Amino acid sequence: MTQTVMDKPDPMTHPLQDRFGRRVTYVRISITDRCDFRCLYCMSEEMEFLPRPQILTLEELYQVSRAFVELGVDKIRITGGEPLVRKGAVGLMAQISQLPGLGEVVLTTNGSHLVQEAKHLKAAGVRRINVSLDSLKPERFRQLTRVGDLAGVLAGIDTALNQGFEKIKINAVILRNRNHDEICDLVNYAIGKGIDISFIEEMPLGRVEGHDRAGEYCSSDEIRQRLEGVFELLPSMVSTGGPARYYRVAGTGTRIGFISPHSHNFCGTCNRVRVTAEGRLLLCLGNEHSVDLKAVLRTEANGIEALKSAIVASMAIKPERHHFDLKAEPMILRHMNATGG
Ligand code: SAM
Ligand code: SF4
Repeated sequence: MTQTVMDKPDPMTHPLQDRFGRRVTYVRISITDRCDFRCLYCMSEEMEFLPRPQILTLEELYQVSRAFVELGVDKIRITGGEPLVRKGAVGLMAQISQLPGLGEVVLTTNGSHLVQEAKHLKAAGVRRINVSLDSLKPERFRQLTRVGDLAGVLAGIDTALNQGFEKIKINAVILRNRNHDEICDLVNYAIGKGIDISFIEEMPLGRVEGHDRAGEYCSSDEIRQRLEGVFELLPSMVSTGGPARYYRVAGTGTRIGFISPHSHNFCGTCNRVRVTAEGRLLLCLGNEHSVDLKAVLRTEANGIEALKSAIVASMAIKPERHHFDLKAEPMILRHMNATGG
């Protein structure tokens, strides 16, 4: 999708506006690169994680969140790695949710800690949770995550549902000959629970072994066509301002989203940036343009104002779009867990 460079943005109306007139209102923050799973599309089996001093402290994460909110960001997603493996994660979310002007703090998790944490997350002010779930078959779930326990994740989803969050949504990455035969089962699971589900096309982030990215790619269009053989899908007008296109499953309360970085480029309406676990502000998931916020935090005396200036200045280097190619060597060497997916 091509974009025209708009007139000079008016910094008075929204300080975070890029060269293409897109406003950044949404930040995804990876609070750890560590994880208790090793999903084969996300990590390699033997991962080297960042030394702890390189990771932002909880206080630094709070300051970064505060700076973004003071610049007009109204939604913060806490992600990782697995955010709930970080000590103090729930307390941090409680603090962030109190920031004046922030609309909502939401969470993406693999669900492994929800049985214990769902209640505390609700109390911390987390409004919505996305849970990743790629298979309903225990053996296959373990193969895809290399170590994960399906029963624990399903129990976690039920615990979260009982807490009455505004929304629980399933995220599923579909890979040909791995789990593409479960597309309808996953939708039926979502319908049974009265929740939404999004299917995500795999992105080539970092080198992963034991998995053929190009060969196992399954497009959103193919997934949708398979579903249309079984369910009546009604295009939904609802837009979250994000990359997903939504359909409602007729006769149910469930919506199905398709996140299609390859087949339907969504860069034209991009409203988000990411902060990696080590405090790198990433302007685009598919490019390396970034700003080292940790360096600003650790060297500048007037922390919050310096942070805000660095974030505003970063708008000048937000790229127009990504160029993913599954067949080529990954251009982006960082894995999704370090990225804030
Ligand atoms: N650990 C949490 C989880 O799994 O939900 C949060 C972090 S994880 C990196 C966030 C989302 O990114 C998950 O839904 C996961 O399936 C997705 N993901 C990871 N690697 C991906 C890739 N290479 N392409 C597309 N999605 C990916
Ligand atoms: Fe961990 Fe999430 Fe990556 Fe899976 S997708 S390895 S759960 S960070």
